[in-house]
Amino acid sequence: MITIGILSLQGDFERHQSMISALGHETLPVKTREHLARCRGLIIPGGESTTLIKLMKKHDMWDAVIEFGKKMPVYGACAGCILAAREIVGLPQDSLKLIDIAVQRNAYGRQVDSFIDDIKIQLNGKTDSMEGVFIRAPRIVSLGKSVTPLAWHHDDVILAEEGNVLVGTFHPELTDDLRVHDYFIRKVAKTAKITG
Ligand code: GLN
Repeated sequence: MITIGILSLQGDFERHQSMISALGHETLPVKTREHLARCRGLIIPGGESTTLIKLMKKHDMWDAVIEFGKKMPVYGACAGCILAAREIVGLPQDSLKLIDIAVQRNAYGRQVDSFIDDIKIQLNGKTDSMEGVFIRAPRIVSLGKSVTPLAWHHDDVILAEEGNVLVGTFHPELTDDLRVHDYFIRKVAKTAKITG
């Protein structure tokens, strides 16, 4: 059993806990550096990125998450994707710079700021469709050369990874579909095996 940390300062962290539990692994709500040190991987949930930044800094977690994310698996979902990005376009917003992507916040406009649509997902070389739940979602507007796209909504890349870091702009935790979380756990297991 692997312990997956879930940043639990704000946002929909409880839904991620349920997904990891459904896959038979242990979760640890992460609120301090000490909690983080006990985890083999970290999920940064959706929520409000500016609030998350403030709370992470207030709880002395900002640098710790940057250091963790240099080596250990991190999955940033929605606001977590914004936090993990190298750049937030058009805004002087701080980020952890864990993955070489640029994102635009709230990129789908007001009328359709939340929607559900079919998405295409390609995990472990298999292409499938899946339900994508988007809530005031960001858009990944550019990807560095070493970033691999893993899912698409029309022409937009909505799930991508670079090394140990996985990010997605949608919310698989709001469906019963465990595939993205399963993919992340496998990433964590692989890293745990290498680092011992
Ligand atoms: N709109 C939020 C932000 O900009 C992200 C929304 C989400 O995480 N569901 O931080």
